[in-house]
Amino acid sequence: MTALASIPDPSPSPRSRDARSVHRSVHEAGHTDVYTDGHSDGHSDDEGPPARLEDDELYMRFALAEAHEAAREDEVPIGAIIVGPGPDFEVIARAHNTPRGACDPTAHAEILAIRAATGRSGYQRLDGCTLYTTVEPCFMCAGALVHARLHRVVFGTRDPKFGGTVSLGTVLATEGLNHRVLQTEGVLAEEARTLLRGFFRAKRK
Ligand SMILES: [Zn+2]
Repeated sequence: MTALASIPDPSPSPRSRDARSVHRSVHEAGHTDVYTDGHSDGHSDDEGPPARLEDDELYMRFALAEAHEAAREDEVPIGAIIVGPGPDFEVIARAHNTPRGACDPTAHAEILAIRAATGRSGYQRLDGCTLYTTVEPCFMCAGALVHARLHRVVFGTRDPKFGGTVSLGTVLATEGLNHRVLQTEGVLAEEARTLLRGFFRAKRK
């Protein structure tokens, strides 16, 4: 039983459109900094809520709880959730990696969360929604984020072996795409990294 397992239901959401956002950059040069006063320096086809670090950390804890669930199932511990648009900003989907159990190499947390969210809404796009994932999306998932028209993706730690949005490629910044997904990285990164390292360390024993 971990502290994460006792996280209460997220409703009602802590987010509020009239709350001022905090100043903090978690990006290196060239990446979107969305922690500004209610606007971002990137752009997307639809304006989402102002990004606030404290909100991002709260939501990321739900994604981390999913990552812990993946570890319990002997899957690579990556979790993702999707937060719907305002005014409710509720968690509309949760998922964790299941490629091994599902015998499906595409069963990444982000893909499963997108499918759950669209299945619930009955609509193929997720305008105004934010996806939180504990690890940098791979190329496949980054493409799916664009197809789903997500407003923003928030991730924890980078993935030097598969990361497609910062580490090995910058899919979300590709010129010519007809939709731009905002990106925030480094939210509770150490916790996501520690979980991954512990999982792979145990595998090597
Ligand atoms: Zn992926």
